[in-house]
Amino acid sequence: MTTPAEPHRNTLSDMELRVLALEKLLIDKGYVEARALDLLIDTYEHRVGPRNGAKVVARAWVDADYRARLAADATAAIAEFGYTGRQGEHMVALFNEPGVHHLVVCTLCSCYPWPVLGLPPAWYKSAPYRSRAVIDPRGVLADFGLELPAQTELRVFDSTAELRYLVIPTRPAGTDDWSPEQLAELITRDSMIGTGLPLFPDSAPGAALPPPSPAPAP
Ligand code: FE
Repeated sequence: MTTPAEPHRNTLSDMELRVLALEKLLIDKGYVEARALDLLIDTYEHRVGPRNGAKVVARAWVDADYRARLAADATAAIAEFGYTGRQGEHMVALFNEPGVHHLVVCTLCSCYPWPVLGLPPAWYKSAPYRSRAVIDPRGVLADFGLELPAQTELRVFDSTAELRYLVIPTRPAGTDDWSPEQLAELITRDSMIGTGLPLFPDSAPGAALPPPSPAPAP
């Protein structure tokens, strides 16, 4: 695993404290509903954020030139999509390949690439994940239902406040004719953290499969 080269951020900033105080005030006074805020957060955790990363990964799967740019300077390649900003200023893409799997953690806090993955899931910030991802990464993956072949090398990367990682999973077999939009449906948030794999082509929820062959004429 890598050695953190930059300091971690393990305290709330003034702005975050202000946001929390404002949120509590608005809820207490009845101006906003906690449920509405939860929905908003869920949107960024599960929909908007990871959909950005999925577009980056899908492009890397279909476009060799883009893949090379992503490997050379992930921050710039991701910015081609307009995905820039806080927590995404210094991105590194970690390319899975047959026999090599990457897992990302922030051992001290919750450093996470917001522009491409949104807000970190609760488990990513939990002490058990942060410690066990380093001590027993295969056990962590097993908890997620992911069993890698014993011969697969597992590389754990520790995020820092200045360096964020995006795992580029391997492209599922049987998707040769798929468009980037179709491929993006297979790419889960967890597959871009390393705690999961992309969906199989036939299990993608709502995945627009290639149009079926026309039925033979009667
Ligand atoms: Fe951190």
